Amino acid sequence: MAITVGQVPLAELIGICGPGRVVSEHQALRTYESDGLLQYAVVPAAAVLPETAEEVAAVVRACHRAEVPWVARGAGTGLSGGALPVAEGVLISLARMRRILEIDLENQRIVVEPGVTNSEISAAVGPTHFYPPDPSSQIVCSIGGNVAENSGGVHCFKYGFTTNYVLGLDVVLPDGETVTLGGSELDRPGYDLLGTFVGSEGTLGVATRIILRVSPKPEATRTVVAYFDSPEQAGQVVSDVVAAGIVPGGMEIMDNLAIRATEAATHAGNPVDAGASLIIELDGSESECTARFDEVVSLCERNGANGIRIAADEAERQLIWKARKAAFAAMGRMSPNFYVQDGVIPRTRLPEVLRRIEDLGSEYGLRVANVFHAGDGNLHPLVLYDAAKHGESERAEELAGKIVEACVEAGGSLTGEHGIGVDKKRYMGKMFTEADLATFQRLRCAFDPDGRVNPGKVMPTPRLCGEVPGPYRQHPIEAAGLADRL
Ligand SMILES: Cc1cc2nc3c(=O)[nH]c(=O)nc-3n(C[C@H](O)[C@H](O)[C@H](O)COP(=O)(O)OP(=O)(O)OC[C@H]3O[C@@H](n4cnc5c(N)ncnc54)[C@H](O)[C@@H]3O)c2cc1C
Repeated sequence: MAITVGQVPLAELIGICGPGRVVSEHQALRTYESDGLLQYAVVPAAAVLPETAEEVAAVVRACHRAEVPWVARGAGTGLSGGALPVAEGVLISLARMRRILEIDLENQRIVVEPGVTNSEISAAVGPTHFYPPDPSSQIVCSIGGNVAENSGGVHCFKYGFTTNYVLGLDVVLPDGETVTLGGSELDRPGYDLLGTFVGSEGTLGVATRIILRVSPKPEATRTVVAYFDSPEQAGQVVSDVVAAGIVPGGMEIMDNLAIRATEAATHAGNPVDAGASLIIELDGSESECTARFDEVVSLCERNGANGIRIAADEAERQLIWKARKAAFAAMGRMSPNFYVQDGVIPRTRLPEVLRRIEDLGSEYGLRVANVFHAGDGNLHPLVLYDAAKHGESERAEELAGKIVEACVEAGGSLTGEHGIGVDKKRYMGKMFTEADLATFQRLRCAFDPDGRVNPGKVMPTPRLCGEVPGPYRQHPIEAAGLADRL
């Protein structure tokens, strides 16, 4: 079996979307050349901006018939190159599909199109309800992208990730057929294809209609920030809070470099000489928050907190979160370039992994800022570098790779929420066996036998559908120099 790549059916795409929503001019196409991982850029042959599920299905059918690869794109905030286009392919932007289709608060449901932003969902069901998974990019990232990446955020320790809130999806499959996975009800019979699709990073089809569960807003929230000499002390508080049976809405750590960057960007009032800050937010009933809040504060004090700030009102609470959520963007104040890493470790291994990250930073001569979703053990080391300095980009990328390997060696994972994309596929073999990878590939081939949906992402080897699973063997297209094994 050989991969064939046909010609982009431009006239047909224009017939489907109209000339104003098909982009084929090189300079205009550069808008789509990268996602949030700017280290990679590919200009697609064409981009389309469908406005309805029917248009998406027609575009996919046209690509299928013409044997052209395609990539779905939400808001393009992904940090692993998941929405990186294919040079000879079509980029399908879902940015125009922004309608809220139905709100059913009695049954805690909302139905939306994929281009609706994460924040718009909470806004639509407020003030009584909210949508808990809250990536820091929530004001711009799309719910379709969240579904594809199984996105998380600061409130996922208590509330769970995107996968815990997606009840149903309409999906356009690679041949242009539309199927419904899941539905409005919980626990449908049959294989869990919904679970398979969530987190599949745009490799199985396009979600065009999304049914979500939303939660009633908690009656009360209490938010505290404690300051420490080191992130290790803050990490110990997190372990102690969990051991005490307290389940906060969020627990977030920033180290000194991250505090300094966010303070410069937001003026939130965090002390720039603190070694680490730990935000703990309790939410739930008034009585539950009150009962456990003093215990949380005293656990901070017992672990050496040298300052405690309690949010006096909603405005101060928002300011505290603003600083935390600005952490990635604020790094631009500390360094001309930075690489956002995303790994997971068991919470209890935090001190040793932090030491390893520090040692690696010294070895590579680069600064690393640390921001963590501490409750989930989800680290976001930010490797700072200057691309204008010879060799620094390569050193930064190598260091970021060593950090993620250290996470896996500590019993953790290659990614907590940003996905594998193009960026981390080379490390998949560190976490999965050949048999594991072959099983993933067989599943992917069941959806996309021609390998034309977001090709070159997630899987580390260029296996084709129909190849014999098992230990790796060189494929004829590799031998012909048409694909590389990474
Ligand atoms: C400043 C900043 C902070 C961030 N913070 C967080 C965070 O706290 N937590 C977190 O999880 N992530 C975070 N991210 C990463 C990113 O925002 C998320 O991964 C988000 O879900 C991507 O959504 P998007 O709409 O931008 O998707 P895109 O980047 O456009 O696409 C991401 C992937 O989804 C696929 N895709 C998009 N739409 C669809 C669809 N409708 N159907 C099928 N596949 C689709 C694409 O093909 C691609 O593989 C952050 C990013 C930035 C820049």
